[in-house]
Parts: sequence; structure tokens; C-alpha cells
Amino acid sequence: MNRDPECIFCKIAAGEVSCCEVHRDAGALAFMDIGPLAEGHVLLIPTGHYRTLDEVPAEEAAAVLRCLPALVKAVKEATGCEGVNVLQNNGRAAHQLVPHVHFHVIPRKAGDEFHFNWPAGTYPKGRMERLAEGIRARLG
Ligand code: AMP
Ligand code: ZN
Repeated sequence: MNRDPECIFCKIAAGEVSCCEVHRDAGALAFMDIGPLAEGHVLLIPTGHYRTLDEVPAEEAAAVLRCLPALVKAVKEATGCEGVNVLQNNGRAAHQLVPHVHFHVIPRKAGDEFHFNWPAGTYPKGRMERLAEGIRARLG
């Protein structure tokens, strides 16, 4: 199992730093976020240390994501929220502060305090298809 001795989430996964745990199994841990964007904000992490999602082996990613539907359902029912955002930040440019992969499960209500800037754009002719080709080629 990958581990970084300096990583706060590795320390939480190892039980060296306390957390308010809601789920634990062999490959995943879910616990309450101490800086919640809304009450009931939960973090879901792989037990192994990987900085960003692209580093996680598929089997370990699958072990984490298999928890996600039940976790979203539990958060919805426990908070009575109207919606849920699942966010997963990779890299500082994407607002990742803790370099151990984590999924935010954030309860939402209409008119709540959490706002997205969602600057949907358009492509010049041919650009989308060229990017898709580059992505397809790398997926094999
Ligand atoms: P991100 O910006 O995606 O890296 O988010 C990191 C999240 O981890 C933030 O929402 C923090 O509030 C949360 N966080 C940091 N340290 C802890 C901790 N010891 N226990 C629970 N949540 C934490
Ligand atoms: Zn870690």
C-alpha cells in the first residue's frame, strides 16, 4: 500500500490522526470534512497514497468509487439536502490543497452559499474533434 509519512490523509487512514469517520473498508475511507462547504460535507479517499486521480491504479480507483453511490445516498438522507455535488480536484490549478486523492461529497440546497463559476464556451471549427482525437489516441 502506497503511503506518504508527511501526508495528513495517510495519517488519518492509518489512525495516527483522528477524524470523524463514516465508512472504512480495505480500500477506502470516508470522513467528515473539517472545513465544510455545507453541513454534511464528506471526503472519500483511497487508503493508498496517490497525489492525483491519474496516478491511481484502476483497481484501487474502483475500490473507492464502489462506495460512492451509497455514500451520496446516506449524505442525502442524513442531511435532507436537495442535491449533491461530487467534486474531485487534481493539482493546485484545480484547487487541490491536500495532495492525497479525495472526492468531496457536498450536500446542496437551492439558493445555498456555494456558487460555481461555470464559464461554458464554444469551440472554433475543428478544435473539438482534434482534441477528441488526442484523447482517444491516449486511451488506446
Ligand atoms: P482540496 O482543496 O480539494 O484539496 O480539499 C481539501 C479538503 O480537506 C478541504 O475541504 C479541507 O477542509 C479538508 N481537510 C483538510 N484537513 C482535514 C482533516 N484533518 N480532516 C478533515 N478534513 C480535512
Ligand atoms: Zn496520503
